Formats: sequence, C-alpha cells, structure tokens
Amino acid sequence: MSDIKAIDREYVAGTYARFPVQIVSGKGSLVRDENGKEYIDMGSGIGVTAFGVADDEWQAAVTAQLGKVQHMSNLYYTEPCALLAKVLCERTGMKKVFFCNSGAEANECAIKAARKYAAEKKGAEYYTIVTLQNSFHGRTLTTLAATGQEHYHELFQPLTPGFVHAKAGDLEGTKALALEQKAAAVMLECIQGEGGVVVMDRDYVQGVAAFCAEQDILLIVDEVQTGNGRTGALYAYQNFGVTPDIVSTAKGLGGGLPLGAVLLGEKVQNVLGPGDHGSTFGGNPVCCAGALSVLNRLDGAFLAEVRAKGEYVKAALAGAEGVEGVSGLGLMLGVKTVKPAAEVVKTCMENGVLCLTAKDKVRLLPALNIPTELLDRAVAVIKAACAD
Ligand code: PLP
Repeated sequence: MSDIKAIDREYVAGTYARFPVQIVSGKGSLVRDENGKEYIDMGSGIGVTAFGVADDEWQAAVTAQLGKVQHMSNLYYTEPCALLAKVLCERTGMKKVFFCNSGAEANECAIKAARKYAAEKKGAEYYTIVTLQNSFHGRTLTTLAATGQEHYHELFQPLTPGFVHAKAGDLEGTKALALEQKAAAVMLECIQGEGGVVVMDRDYVQGVAAFCAEQDILLIVDEVQTGNGRTGALYAYQNFGVTPDIVSTAKGLGGGLPLGAVLLGEKVQNVLGPGDHGSTFGGNPVCCAGALSVLNRLDGAFLAEVRAKGEYVKAALAGAEGVEGVSGLGLMLGVKTVKPAAEVVKTCMENGVLCLTAKDKVRLLPALNIPTELLDRAVAVIKAACAD
C-alpha cells in the first residue's frame, strides 16, 4: 500500500468504496496507476472525460482560458459562458441556459424552474414532481427525494416534500399519478444509468411527452449521464423523438471539469429572473472553454461513430459465454453477466481494464473517442472475465 492510499483512508470522508488503485496519469483512454501499470479506461470517470484523459485539444482550450481569466463573478459577462450557451441552444432548439457545477445542482435548478412555472401558471398547489421508480437524480436532499430508489432515502429523512415515483413504462399509471398529485413536472432519464442502464420504452417516453404537453405539465429530461454525445445523439431525448421543456446535464459536458447546465425550452425560458437562482462558480470560464471544445467536436459524423462503436461492442458481447445480455445506446452500455458484476469488474481490473457497475450490470462508459483497437482489447478482457 502506498502512502497516498493510507492518507486517503485516514483523512478523506469514507463515502466512496474505492478500488485499490491510484491513478496518477494517462492519455486518452489509457491510464496508469502508481506502479506504472496501464489500464484501458472503460469508465471515463463515470462518463465525464468525453475525450479521455489529458486530451490535447481540450487541454489547449482549457489552458488558453486559464491564462486569460480563470474565474469571474456572474455579475460580469464572460465569453466562454455566453458562447457555450449559444452553442447549446443552437444545437438543441432550447432557448436559454443556466450553468452550475454538477448534475445534482442542474436537477435542483430544473425543479425550481418547474415549480415556479407551475405556481405562476396554475397555482401554488401544483408543486409535485413525478419521477420514475429506479431513477437516480443526485444526492442533495431534494434530488434524493427525486431519486426513485428507497435505499438512498432511508437515513436522511425528512427529504424535500413533493416527489412521487411512477412505474417506468406504465403510461396510464404515470398520467394518473401526475393528475392526482397536481404535478408541476414529470422528470425522467431516457436511459436510467445508475438504475442499471435501463433504456426507456420509446412509446412510453413519447406518451409521457404528449400527455405533458396536453396538460401543460413540464417534461424534464435528466441528461446528466446520457447527455453530450454519450448515446450517439447530442442528447439522448433526440433518440426518442420528443422535445423536453427542460434538460439538465453535467458529467461529460465539461470534459473533466465540473460543469452542469440546465437548458430551458420555450415555455420556461423566462421563468427564472434575477435573484431566483445563482451559483458562484456556475458558468466558470475555464469549465465553459473545456465544454466548448467538447461540443465543437460532437458533430454528426463523430456521433455516428459513437453509435457504431456501441453497436460493435454490443455485437461482440451479446451471446458471449457468461453474458446474459447487453443494454444501452451508443457508448452507454450495461452488460448483464452470469457472474456477479463486481467480480467481473475486479477480474477486468486485474487484467488491465477499468469498468464500472450499475446495479447488477457491468457498466461501460468509455471516452467517446476511444480507438477501436483499445475497444477490441477491452472487449476481449471483459469477455474472458465473464466466461472464466
Ligand atoms: N442524474 C443522473 C442521471 C446521474 O447519473 C447523476 C450521477 O450519476 C446525477 C444526476 C448526479 O450528478 P452529480 O454527481 O454530478 O451531482
């Protein structure tokens, strides 16, 4: 055990069950531990380093901005923030963007915007947010309440009131719950990431969107994990043929720097006014410069490659010994294994491949530009770990 692991265990709050590996450097989809052992990174910091570790183009964009101004209060205009908001709106059709620092904060803002919209439009009693069972929306007290998994709630009561959880796929049940609870919004992930890479049924998502539009209930899509090219579309909702009122995102947006964003559609574009919300670091120029470099590279051809790579991995793993199935879209994949997922991940790590778990699945979220040659090598290691 190196000193760093011991120091970490002694002084860092024990909220993470860390693997016994210290990552010290890397390039692209290859990272090295403290002993110089190399790994293929199939997790990208849980879907964060969209172009891998220390990507040249991203690094140049970030360091150029670092040399100009690393932070400025939101009381002043800064270029990266304005340009990033413009790109996000132009690429999605959304109208305005609020910047924050994380996924949970993006969802907090989305919820505040929905509640204010509904309170002004329909009355103060229209505050409930319907989310889905098995969802994950973050770890603040409000986003925990939004998260439809009881085990996260247990020791943190009372959570923010005003959240109910519908059964994913049950359109009539979702509608009934939303009406009965006087919902301000329905919030969902198109693919439940932490819930085990569970892809929502397209008809269900479209049914919820149509119902929300009809009832003037807002549709919030949580794209924290699925967003920014991860599923082979810029945002996963674009695969489902729906137009949300609010989109929250984070993780891959900054390419490795903390940045969250809430995209506000037509109906809610002006709902948040001065003083309604804010964040000291939100829209930080360095993070936004990193995000601009990420988004500028996520063009149609690149996204088609993400989809192709995803299909390639799916085909390679589906039907392999010890693999029960592969779920997901693009480079957000969940592998249902015969062996416990944690055991497979451990074997992969020993053999130089870093994977994640999500519930009972091995979860793969590699960098979006992972070379096919590394994907091949990683798939071979994963297959062997599932089989032996
Ligand atoms: N929403 C979804 C769908 C997520 O997957 C996550 C994190 O895994 C969050 C929200 C919370 O994001 P953060 O950890 O950046 O607060």
